[in-house]
Amino acid sequence: MISGLHRPTKLVIDRQAIKANIQQEIQRLPQTTELWAVVKADGYGHGMVAVATTAKHAGATGFCVAILDEALGLRQAGFTEPILVLGITSPEYAKLAANAHISLSVGTQDWLAAALPVLQSDNVTASLAIHFAVDSGMGRIGFRESAALQQADAYLQQHQEFNLEGLFTHFATADEQDTAYFEQQVAAFQQMRQALASEPRYVHVSNSATSLWHDACNGNMVRFGVALYGLNPSGAVLQPPYPLQPALSFTTELVFVKQIQAGAAVSYGATYHAQQAEWIGTVPVGYADGWQRRLQGFHVLVDGQYCEIIGRVCMDQLMVRLPNKLPVGTKVTLVGVDGSRTITLQDVATYAKTIHYEITCNLSPRVPRVYL
Ligand code: PLP
Repeated sequence: MISGLHRPTKLVIDRQAIKANIQQEIQRLPQTTELWAVVKADGYGHGMVAVATTAKHAGATGFCVAILDEALGLRQAGFTEPILVLGITSPEYAKLAANAHISLSVGTQDWLAAALPVLQSDNVTASLAIHFAVDSGMGRIGFRESAALQQADAYLQQHQEFNLEGLFTHFATADEQDTAYFEQQVAAFQQMRQALASEPRYVHVSNSATSLWHDACNGNMVRFGVALYGLNPSGAVLQPPYPLQPALSFTTELVFVKQIQAGAAVSYGATYHAQQAEWIGTVPVGYADGWQRRLQGFHVLVDGQYCEIIGRVCMDQLMVRLPNKLPVGTKVTLVGVDGSRTITLQDVATYAKTIHYEITCNLSPRVPRVYL
């Protein structure tokens, strides 16, 4: 993917904010509980290696990613900390993972059986670290029955090609006010936990929401994701125990300014017509950058003033109605603070009827990330 270095559009990532969010969380954790930074999906769009570096300096002792390639990317970047792949990896890559000391999530004994011959082949230099996933109610991956977990544990113990490093589950509603389903999942996990012959080094259940609002059940490692980026996992529903500092701003500049007359149309479909003579600014951001078409009608800050996005968002450009004539080169803020006004990722997500996770993950690699 080509990065747009010769266009004013950029994402600015404040590493101090990431550091502060992690340090605040570590201060709340008992010394025996580790924080692993979740840096999958290119660090939720913030840049995986930069976020991992910052997280490490802030005290994170391991990393979680979604796919094996992300884990290998961290190893290639020189990280030697433990790395857990949260998703299911094909058993054919068991050797690759073992040799790179990458831990894999496993939810069936069949997976172990399929991986065994791969680990018994030539040039395997280490045993494969396994975290058993328990499906306590998320309905995604993991063991759902104690007996199946017990049998898989027994199988694993019989084969030195594996070592059991962790047991974990994932909650579906830790970010909600109603805790009934959450408590049901906690109870299901506690019951499943009994199935193991002995506890592995890591027992972990907490995403950001669990660690922020249900820390009593944290276990000895938390998988801290969205909150490290300064985003409230519940949207605006629950208040975090400390102020989270958003790390990401999205800025650009007006590249074209013109006045149009009453009745003149703007953008594809000619859906917007000026009510009167209006000043229109063109902004070099579009849906190819991750700024979705559904953001038509939302606003940006131009020189610190809210300006509506008018007409359809194009692939690479969008138009805004300006309060008055402004020069080409005027600062445009899509996310962040300008003067006394702010546009948060939560504002964007609310308007787009989605969650901020999706907004940041969709920000295209075409937009350069600049690190403060
Ligand atoms: N753990 C698992 C298994 C996940 O899938 C995720 C993210 O999707 C996380 C932890 C991190 O969650 P959050 O970003 O809400 O902290």
